[in-house]
Amino acid sequence: MGPIRAGILGATGAVGQRFVQLLDRNPWFEITALTGSERSAGKPYGEACTWVVPGEMPLARRETIVQPTTPEIECRVVFSALPGDVAGPIEEELAAAGFAVFSKAASHRMDPDVPLLLTEVNAGHLPLIHRQRRERGWHRGFIVTDPNCSTVALAMALKPLHDRFGVMEVMVTTMQALSGAGYPGVSGLDLLDNVVPYIRNEEEKMETEPLKILGRLEGEQIRPAEFAISAQCNRVNVRDGHLEAISVRLSRKVSAEEIVEAWQTFQGLPQELGLPSAPDRPIIVRLEEDRPQPRLDRDAGEGMAVTVGRLRHCPLLGWKFVALVHNTVRGAAGTSILDAELMRVQGYLE
Ligand code: NAP
Repeated sequence: MGPIRAGILGATGAVGQRFVQLLDRNPWFEITALTGSERSAGKPYGEACTWVVPGEMPLARRETIVQPTTPEIECRVVFSALPGDVAGPIEEELAAAGFAVFSKAASHRMDPDVPLLLTEVNAGHLPLIHRQRRERGWHRGFIVTDPNCSTVALAMALKPLHDRFGVMEVMVTTMQALSGAGYPGVSGLDLLDNVVPYIRNEEEKMETEPLKILGRLEGEQIRPAEFAISAQCNRVNVRDGHLEAISVRLSRKVSAEEIVEAWQTFQGLPQELGLPSAPDRPIIVRLEEDRPQPRLDRDAGEGMAVTVGRLRHCPLLGWKFVALVHNTVRGAAGTSILDAELMRVQGYLE
């Protein structure tokens, strides 16, 4: 089978640009459509887009005309990097028209018939698609979402711990990069010499999404994991890479060695299947006392690995550690692309 035709919705934004960069070199998909808002539609991509991703805009894309975001686009698969407040109805319209929609927006993440996929963690939730198609009357199309960027690091780091030792309580404080707010995003004047202790809706997402992701598929519904998460989210003056300070209570006594071993040996379906975008190790453990750090570690596994470190005793919950994710790669475009690669192998894109 040759490459599958892919469109990117919101291709001019921070996440849309990552999709362009990553899909440009992906062997299984070829970009055949880029869309934007009324501001960009009709312009060449090179003119409509202020390229903010490190590295050059792919040459082949510069002259591509940005299209309006409608079902008129030519592709089988759609990667949505639309803002949450506009994505919902557009994504439904596209799925109803037969497109396979992979969404980075929050609109459908918690819908009971929509998988919230973190590819290594809960590929087993994909059969929800059958319920979705049946109940919504869709035949070829569907919507698959993936998590908020900060949720990716938290859910990935918790997965092996929950499977082996049982997670009972979690406290997490994030230090989230500027690119997480999109482009142009937060004003420089707000962030220079500063930390902003508020990101709209972020704490609510972090306190609920991991429970769906780590939940079990029972029949045709997800039974959420049963533990409490308390999240505090902050915007900091870093370009890319969300750092998270996490404390966790486990259901039994374990040693640091057991936790490290659980992380280091963790593998998922993308690794077993050798998918093109799968990192060799989804979780990388740093043993130095001052790692991970955004600037040094965000590109681990070509940006597709979550890095953990600073594991130590927590006087309140038992264990604490730090996790890091590249927010626009593993936290956004990279995860959607990995979902699509898995679904191609499993025959959902035929
Ligand atoms: P962004 O930089 O603000 O980009 C938004 C994109 O959506 C632009 O391409 C914009 O096109 C387009 N757009 C805006 N309104 C539109 C409309 N009414 N119709 C069609 N297109 C429209 O935002 P972002 O950071 O890339 O985030 C995109 C999505 O990913 C959001 O849902 C966000 O929550 C989610 N997300 C972001 C990150 C991250 O690290 N940034 C991580 C995970 C998830 P124009 O340029 O033409 O206006």
